[in-house]
Amino acid sequence: MGGNYALHTSTKFQSCYYQFFVSLFSSTVNLRPGTEQKVVFITARVHPGETPSSFVCQGIIDFLVSPHPIAKVLRDHLVFKIAPMLNPDGVYLGNYRCSLMGFDLNRHWADPSPWAHPTLHGVKQLIVQMYNNPKVTLEFYIDIHAHSTMMNGFMYGNIFEDEERFQRQAIFPKLLCQNAEDFSFSSTSFNRDAVKAGTGRRFLGGLLDDTSYCYTLEVSFYSYIVGGTTSTVPYTEETYMKLGRNVARTFLDYYRLNSITERPLAPISSTWKEKASSNRCSYHRAQGNNQPSTKTEKRTQATLKEPTQSS
Ligand SMILES: [Zn+2]
Repeated sequence: MGGNYALHTSTKFQSCYYQFFVSLFSSTVNLRPGTEQKVVFITARVHPGETPSSFVCQGIIDFLVSPHPIAKVLRDHLVFKIAPMLNPDGVYLGNYRCSLMGFDLNRHWADPSPWAHPTLHGVKQLIVQMYNNPKVTLEFYIDIHAHSTMMNGFMYGNIFEDEERFQRQAIFPKLLCQNAEDFSFSSTSFNRDAVKAGTGRRFLGGLLDDTSYCYTLEVSFYSYIVGGTTSTVPYTEETYMKLGRNVARTFLDYYRLNSITERPLAPISSTWKEKASSNRCSYHRAQGNNQPSTKTEKRTQATLKEPTQSS
């Protein structure tokens, strides 16, 4: 964006331009020299038939680049790296799950080939580079999918031997459940099935250290059930994008940046407060808490909870 303006050759103009950006960014915590960058890495549409994942991702991007005060705070404190379409050739061809060469890319994270799985190879290289950069902390990896049999939005996470790490991993989906009426914490599950070993979430969960959280975010192809009711609401493009906006602003809660938003959040604050004050997520837990309390329970449940197909 700025590059076009830099085509002006006036030295005076360039000087002003440079100073403008220096002053703009000097207030940006993330870009101060020597500051460790906290990175949220988001990917979508590795499965080309899962169109809703693109709308969710679009919602995230639209919100993050908007002038909304929450978006501004997020931009100031976090770096978002987003690969919105991991399987463009599959999307172009109208495939449901595979790439042009017939690969399910979400089974090849362990050893992606630069010629057979080029998008995956490129993204993985970037992630590994960031992981090896001492000035960068890759804190979140979220891979967005759509689910053909489940309702609502929900997440898959990993199972770790470290109980504390396992519990910490549940924080983000719990916060998201409070912010998004269509997101179900009770449908969120944690597993380590062998069949999912080549997925982004599973592979990066094993690669990254214990301060990183890796999730698959799933959203129903069809509908969501509003917590505490039996009414189903069909998803629309707009409600998929709304889930994306809610994912983005949940980082404000996670990083406890609420106190530094510039002004009251006029258009969305009332519904947000309603949601935050409701007991919906607790209600879900009371109906069948998916957050196991012991390791044995955890594993039994992980086997039982895994819905068919997808991710
Ligand atoms: Zn999928």
